[in-house]
Amino acid sequence: MKRVRKRLLDWYRTNKRAMPWRETRDPYAIWISEAMLQQTRVETVIPYWQRFLNLFPDVHALATADLDDVLGAWAGLGYYSRARNLQAAARLIDERHGGRLPDDAETLQTLPGIGRYTAGALASIAFDRPEPVLDGNVKRVLTRLLGIREDIAQPAVLERLWKEAGTLARGPHPGDLNQALMELGATVCTSRTPRCAGCPISQFCDARAEGDAESLPIKARKKPARRVEAVAALVTRRGRALAVRRPPRGLLGGLWDLPGGDLAAGEMPRAGLARTLRERTGLEITRASAIGTVEHLFTHRKLTLHVYRASTSTNRIRLDGFAGHKWLAPGAISSLPHASMTAKALALLMLPTARSSD
Ligand code: SF4
Repeated sequence: MKRVRKRLLDWYRTNKRAMPWRETRDPYAIWISEAMLQQTRVETVIPYWQRFLNLFPDVHALATADLDDVLGAWAGLGYYSRARNLQAAARLIDERHGGRLPDDAETLQTLPGIGRYTAGALASIAFDRPEPVLDGNVKRVLTRLLGIREDIAQPAVLERLWKEAGTLARGPHPGDLNQALMELGATVCTSRTPRCAGCPISQFCDARAEGDAESLPIKARKKPARRVEAVAALVTRRGRALAVRRPPRGLLGGLWDLPGGDLAAGEMPRAGLARTLRERTGLEITRASAIGTVEHLFTHRKLTLHVYRASTSTNRIRLDGFAGHKWLAPGAISSLPHASMTAKALALLMLPTARSSD
């Protein structure tokens, strides 16, 4: 372990890619980078990170910001719950910890949106605590290095990986060590074509010795995405169109959308439109014309959305399953934070589209 650690640290110091958050020791700035980097590429994150820190330079600024401004600054990064959780956690840090991020992984994990990985990353990178991280890159490096030839989705295997990562982190410079493991996985020990000849720990690597690096880690097949059909409409009354806000939690929480909902099994889209609008907004539609369909793939669902233009004669709204609504000029809907699925529907309706939020 000692030699593996030393080689990783030496390699990291001369090979690490330049990233602006690697130039700071500010725990808040590092936290924002970690939240943004989940599921998102480094090059995409850099301008967002800089802009976000300009708008919300510290915990207090984020805690007291308007949610729509936070969601707006996140627009285009996707997985909006990260932005909502950041603000919720900032509020707790402001209230309970005087605006300073806790420096231990256990307390960090009590905050919204901070799981075991992020807590380990923050504790080690920002506070030099010997805590492990285990993201996809580290899992790949460790399974190959240690020759773990079992399904890494199994809890016992995952727990073993955490334990091994923990052993590695218990040495000098745990933050750099963790970043070295992640960097190695991202640039050398890649999924398809690991460059073992240029790897600083190749002499210790079981998979290299066995010649089966490309087949590791072993992952059970994912279930195929479920197919779902839904309807949404640009509902207008006297030249104003209805936008509805999704509830703060759940899929695309807090984002603005066109009203509608999922179709029941075997339900025709037009009937489903009348039903979902009645049930979820209290509106009866007087006319509806089909515009077309858009497809969108979520993590677990493949959605076909039937898009309509519809009109109603009443503006008495009774919301069920939405957290708010606005009547506004049709072209203004895109100025509200919205998902990329909604952006596709707006484009189909030939309305202006702004950058979407997932
Ligand atoms: Fe990965 Fe190859 Fe290095 Fe092993 S030797 S850790 S498989 S790059």
